[in-house]
Amino acid sequence: MKRILLPCGESVPALGQGTWHVGDDPSRRQEEIATIQRGIDLGLALVDTAEMYGDGRSEELVGAAIAARRHEVFLVSKVYPHHASQRAMLRACEASLRRLRVETIDLYLLHWPGAVPLAETVSAFEALQRAGKIRHWGVSNFDLEKMRQLWRVPGGHAAQTNQVLYNLGERGIEWDLRLWLRDRGLPVMAYSPFDEGRLLRQPGLQAFAQACGMTAAQVALAWLMTQAGVIAIPKTGNRKRMDENAAALSRTLSPPQIEELRRLFPEPSGAVPLAML
Ligand code: NAP
Repeated sequence: MKRILLPCGESVPALGQGTWHVGDDPSRRQEEIATIQRGIDLGLALVDTAEMYGDGRSEELVGAAIAARRHEVFLVSKVYPHHASQRAMLRACEASLRRLRVETIDLYLLHWPGAVPLAETVSAFEALQRAGKIRHWGVSNFDLEKMRQLWRVPGGHAAQTNQVLYNLGERGIEWDLRLWLRDRGLPVMAYSPFDEGRLLRQPGLQAFAQACGMTAAQVALAWLMTQAGVIAIPKTGNRKRMDENAAALSRTLSPPQIEELRRLFPEPSGAVPLAML
């Protein structure tokens, strides 16, 4: 498994697992739990969730899936912006820990920028670290201006990642944000690598994938894996697709293939607002 270095010096798998909508449908519970476990078996041992997902149901299901193998997993969760104050973050984190059935979250992210001043949010993260409830913290959906603001806040440089929408069809961050993060040693955590599945129905991608003997999902992931400092967190709730997605790790794209993808999905030619879901 390719690994990506965090600024703290720890490394994490470049391919992890998303869990948005996992836990929403009780009839799918056993398969979803088995899928997360299968992903861990295959090395996709970074699991991303959030207090928002299914109002805690995703965290609860992740907790059940990893209960017997906590030490194998790098666990990421996210706090709502309206819980990003000193007092509310402590309560939100303790509720996440209970649902996840763990003592510590490895990486706790501010889900998107909100009204609480960043300085207070950073202090709240630091207090949770001191209390041993989280090991590291980071942000999500921060555009370049917001990252610059974070960098001006005392302690802001301790952020470990910025989780943003990034896939073949959404390459806006390549104009400036990705370079800014790279210059500071912060990996990008690419969410919705399949654009929630829409990208995989794109005829150009499907034809390209067929010509390379890959599936569209594998091309989307293999392309992200060619990028330095990028962690991708695809979501699937079924084991067959988990196997298919994990197999992307053994597929490399040649320079002409990458060039062809660039023709099909051009990078931005100027600054664009950060895309979000
Ligand atoms: P995604 O990973 O781009 O796509 C998930 C969709 O693709 C699901 O419908 C899934 O269906 C389908 N899929 C997965 N593998 C497939 C395959 N091999 N072939 C065909 N379809 C496949 O979308 P996402 O869930 O929005 O993003 C991934 C993760 O990023 C989330 O789960 C979440 O953890 C995180 N995220 C974070 C933010 C944020 O604001 N920070 C926002 C969005 C997402 P099945 O499950 O049925 O396979």
